[in-house]
Amino acid sequence: LFYEKLTSTYLDSGCVNYFPDKMLNDFSTYLKGFAANGRKKYLNPYRFAIDFNTPIRDAIKFFMFFTNDDGILDIKYFFECSNSACSSHRIFLESISLNKSEEQLDELIFCDMCSRDYDLSTVIPYIKVYFQLKPDFTIPKEESRIYKSDPNSTIEALEGLPDHLKVESPSSTIPTRSHPDEGDDSAVALETIVSINKETNNGGVISNPVENMLLSVASFLRN
Ligand SMILES: [Zn+2]
Repeated sequence: LFYEKLTSTYLDSGCVNYFPDKMLNDFSTYLKGFAANGRKKYLNPYRFAIDFNTPIRDAIKFFMFFTNDDGILDIKYFFECSNSACSSHRIFLESISLNKSEEQLDELIFCDMCSRDYDLSTVIPYIKVYFQLKPDFTIPKEESRIYKSDPNSTIEALEGLPDHLKVESPSSTIPTRSHPDEGDDSAVALETIVSINKETNNGGVISNPVENMLLSVASFLRN
């Protein structure tokens, strides 16, 4: 179902009118590599752009076509806590979902590390997004296994392990990061997403979830 789902989303979302088949094949290759790596939580449009020699804006736009209700990607909204003691701890906005009523949007947002509170109107300029696979979309294991190019590679073997089985060794040559699974470098500014969302030939939008979030937030900000 992997290819069928990718292809039907590519066709049904209108993505086919903006990007060639080759981009869909590249995306499929990227997703299989992503699944084989198994270490990252969020997709990285910058990585995709580099690996497949695509302008970054096109990569983001392409990903966005897959974020509708019948697509394969979810958009996760977050901002980073400004308290230096939190070292850029990410505060995700999915708990308030950004699509709720105005009364609910009015509630303060708390950092779960330091309890600093924020109101939505203040943090909007700082919101970024991640692309994440929808929980019900799976990439077949058989197909991802072929990307384990060198079975003797220690690094690849380690990367294939679930996180809880990994041992932090002082002599390890694998760079350690504070949030190894959160894809530090894969976030896209909300402003960019909003701008790209309107770049269509028919006056519509690319991602309905993004549009719905904006309408909800816009009506909240008017009050
Ligand atoms: Zn904090």
